[in-house]
Amino acid sequence: MPFRTFGLDAKILRAVQEAGYTEPTPIQSAAIPHILAGHDLIGIAQTGTGKTAAFVLPILAKLAGGSPSPSSGPRSIRALIVAPTRELAAQIEENVRGYGKHLPLRAATIYGGVSERPQVEALRTGVDLLVATPGRLLDLMGRRLCDFSRLTFLVLDEAERMLDMGFLPDIRRIVKALPQRRQTLLFSATLSPDIEAVTREFLRTPKIVQIGRRANPAETVTQLVYEVPKHLKPALLVHLLREPNLNMVLVFSRMKHSADRIARSLEASGVRTATLHSNRSQNQRLRALKDFKSGAVRVLVATDIAARGIDVDGISHVVNYDFPMHPEDYVHRIGRTGRAHAVGDAISFVTPEDHSTLRSLERFIGRGIVRKRAEGFNYTAGAPAGAPRGQRERPAIPAQAAHAHPQGGRPNSGGSGRRQGFRSGSAGRGNRWQR
Ligand code: AMP
Repeated sequence: MPFRTFGLDAKILRAVQEAGYTEPTPIQSAAIPHILAGHDLIGIAQTGTGKTAAFVLPILAKLAGGSPSPSSGPRSIRALIVAPTRELAAQIEENVRGYGKHLPLRAATIYGGVSERPQVEALRTGVDLLVATPGRLLDLMGRRLCDFSRLTFLVLDEAERMLDMGFLPDIRRIVKALPQRRQTLLFSATLSPDIEAVTREFLRTPKIVQIGRRANPAETVTQLVYEVPKHLKPALLVHLLREPNLNMVLVFSRMKHSADRIARSLEASGVRTATLHSNRSQNQRLRALKDFKSGAVRVLVATDIAARGIDVDGISHVVNYDFPMHPEDYVHRIGRTGRAHAVGDAISFVTPEDHSTLRSLERFIGRGIVRKRAEGFNYTAGAPAGAPRGQRERPAIPAQAAHAHPQGGRPNSGGSGRRQGFRSGSAGRGNRWQR
């Protein structure tokens, strides 16, 4: 189905064509007609599926076709998109600018961690579409800089993450300041009971679109597990990076300080590396992303929060250096590769301590993940002197432990395996949300 069947403005179609999109992704095909028809919408889709365009394109079409903004004097905000992190907000803005580049609309983005002056200036001049993170938005709303009297669209993007980050009270305060008559769109990677409650609170008789199985990682991503003792993780990463196919690699660590440590060890092995975590200033983060995108660095090491909203084309591999605690994080992490129609590999390092978490994840995503052994890697090397006692004594994983579940096959369901954050069997609940 080509994009023109939606009846979008020709100027938007031109921008879409210039972006190189030939046909809508499934979430776009499902969501755009509902949004154009004026419905509230719940979109359950992982990042990387094209969900941003799924809401930005119809909103731009409605704004462009609505009553024109005054050509001079302040404009009031007609669409507000709230996102959990600065990176995601900046990314959405980039999309808005791209898809709206032939339209006479003004957009602005406001988030913390940078000077507010240009943001205040933009609001004073007037914007049609505002992308914002909750904290800075509330600050500026408190100073009466946001005129929402003509608002017609509210989008809550990555809503599950906003709840995880404790933004619900902020969202309530924001929504209270908006006109009741509006169209509300909520996007979330997963549909938890908390998200359902939020949709009941903020949306009216929403249409629901759900793409793929709930929490099903992007189909185009090949998932692999390397079982490795903890002390060999740095060496294994360097070993894998000898393979030139790993040309644009996003490495996830659980903690900020371990992100720095991984980066130092890679740099010491001659691998150009940048880091992205919340201890870094906004300018440092933007610089890291720029260097990664341009290929000036081959590896970007990031923590989960900082990596939200990273939209970099061409990531060849995602490496879960530290196995994620929550299955949602796994899905988000691996969604950074294989975006839209591209393909990519997701590699997870799994230590003996991670085994039950891995089994729970496999139940959550409903499939086993292939175990692989790195060829030519010395799995029996001891821990370096000075490593914590537990690490020194732990034996390397024996060869027979490196078994494989066929991809798509049922994982071994042995063991109770339930750890904090994992909700096994959660797919069942999602069925009733299907269209
Ligand atoms: P998102 O899920 O919104 O983060 O989008 C993931 C990536 O898919 C971005 O790089 C978009 O530019 C790209 N994308 C969005 N829609 C399409 C499409 N219809 N065809 C090809 N790529 C797309």
